[in-house]
Amino acid sequence: MTRHRRPDEEDDDEPGLLEDSFEGTCPHCGESVTLAIDPSGGDHQEYVEDCEICCRPWLVTVSAGDDGAFSVTIDPS
Ligand SMILES: [Zn+2]
Repeated sequence: MTRHRRPDEEDDDEPGLLEDSFEGTCPHCGESVTLAIDPSGGDHQEYVEDCEICCRPWLVTVSAGDDGAFSVTIDPS
């Protein structure tokens, strides 16, 4: 796979301590997807994001539990 990246993008592969990621399944196409969660966005977040596989929109709901772990739901939007 050939994919051109600008040199200044490669640093993004550093282990991210500020972001959590969540692995889920697209409700439209069934592909496995990884979402980046921004913990600084609050204990409850809701936003629309497009699937990078099929480009259809998800309604993503993020909620933080008492232990600080995030639970994420992806609904078809
Ligand atoms: Zn999809």
